[in-house]
Amino acid sequence: MSERLRGLGVGTGRVVGPAVVVSSSMPEPPPGAAGAEPAAEAADAAVALQWVAGRLGEFAATATGEAKDILDAQVLFAADPGLAADVAERTGAGVPAARAVFEAFGRYRELLGSAGDYIAARVTDLDDVRDRTIARLLGLPPPGVPYLDEPGVLVARDLAPADTATLDPARVLGFVTAEGGPTSHTAIIARSLQIPAIVGCAGAMEIAAGTRLLVDAGAGVVVVDPSESQIASAGSHPNRPHHDTGRPGATADGHAVALLANVGGPADAAAAVAAHAEGVGLLRTEFLFLGRDEEPSVAEQVAAYADVLGPFAGSRVVVRTLDAGADKPLPFLSLADEANPALGRRGLRAMQDPPDVLDRQLAAIATAARSCSAVTWVMAPMVADVEDTRWFLERARGHALDVVGVMVEIPAAALQAGAILELADFASLGTNDLAQYALAADRLSGPLGRFQDPWQPAVLRLVQMTADAGARQRKPVGVCGEAAADPMLACVLVGLGIGSLSMSASAIPVVRGQLAAVGYDECVRLAELALGAVSAVDARAAVADALR
Ligand code: PEP
Ligand code: MG
Repeated sequence: MSERLRGLGVGTGRVVGPAVVVSSSMPEPPPGAAGAEPAAEAADAAVALQWVAGRLGEFAATATGEAKDILDAQVLFAADPGLAADVAERTGAGVPAARAVFEAFGRYRELLGSAGDYIAARVTDLDDVRDRTIARLLGLPPPGVPYLDEPGVLVARDLAPADTATLDPARVLGFVTAEGGPTSHTAIIARSLQIPAIVGCAGAMEIAAGTRLLVDAGAGVVVVDPSESQIASAGSHPNRPHHDTGRPGATADGHAVALLANVGGPADAAAAVAAHAEGVGLLRTEFLFLGRDEEPSVAEQVAAYADVLGPFAGSRVVVRTLDAGADKPLPFLSLADEANPALGRRGLRAMQDPPDVLDRQLAAIATAARSCSAVTWVMAPMVADVEDTRWFLERARGHALDVVGVMVEIPAAALQAGAILELADFASLGTNDLAQYALAADRLSGPLGRFQDPWQPAVLRLVQMTADAGARQRKPVGVCGEAAADPMLACVLVGLGIGSLSMSASAIPVVRGQLAAVGYDECVRLAELALGAVSAVDARAAVADALR
């Protein structure tokens, strides 16, 4: 008997294949000192840690974007001298190498777990380094994706960057994970590799290896052990991109929708150019500030911004001012500890008192803009109300930046978009944070992934209110959260009145292809269907059905 499991679909493809279960946990090495030769155990542990650092370093060298950042951080964990000293101390006391590694990582784990949400989310990355080291010491296969000798659907609790760094996209038909939301690592990877996926799928861990699965990403459904007739009626089509025309974004009947790229560093800017992005819809300037103990100088900022603006002569580049705090901690700002950082001094709020960091950044953006011929717009993150809007507009215009907008990522700003857009020149919806705040669900929480979903009709209503306000004020309103990278949702957003979509460059060809396949009136109808649905799952399923 076949069984249907529901989750969040990533992509629109449908695939059928055997389940390949990815084991994520390594058994705990038993305690016990008997027979352990301290010097040899210490040497084994040190060699294993070095080997793991080397392997992860190799993965990092071929990875890009967020996966690369995580892998680089994992290399630092594996090569950490404090950790090595802790392991050596334990082996010196007669603990076998694998157990000493387990215990030493355990201590780091506790430290990380109590260091705030962003860092706590890195615990999985730390565990992955621990398990790789233990596997090496015990001669076991490393955790993660096994070698696939035939095409299959990967089933896992969640996938780590190191898992996906080695996978062969030609043999992976789809992903099904128990945890994760639309902005999780698995979803980002699935989107960039164009592999249909279902994330946040309760019940995934009960799927036995080898069971045949039908993954219908568009409907957010996994059919376990489907019948032949279910397979035949679903049809199978992986969501590989169509040939990319590189044309400006538009619906089939010519309604223009600017397709822009989200850029979080110089490599992304090159990818944006290669994907024929019509500009940059979100330049996350944090890349220059993250992990620094000191603020980068104005000259360094000017050079970095000019590098991104340079290739976009004549096109729009929307520079977002620093979005610090909560999931993006910045050491040099030394923000006070807060019980709820996501509801605290983050984004624009972290820049207001005193405003000197923001002033230096605006000065740098203005100087870079004058030196290039990109059309430079500037916007602030986490704008809550008219007062925030007025404050930011005044500061940015004081630096002779003349197109100044706000990000709408707090529900209050969407509800008051009319008043805000009377003042601001444009608005850009950050649907990642908008979903987090509308559904009161931490964007980094795996178990709450179901709420972190821009298909939630409540989020779509906030998008609609903002788009309507933009239409009334004749001011552009775009989307720059992950929502824009979902080709079906892109149609819905266009139907809601959104004029530009900004996404990771890898998603642009697919979104372009999907938009070119529907008329504008159809987008409006899809938007009505999604808004009328009672849940994110129903909204996605209704739109997938209509597009079929
Ligand atoms: C968002 O919140 O949707 C967004 C685009 O900004 P970030 O993901 O950088 O917070
Ligand atoms: Mg945001």
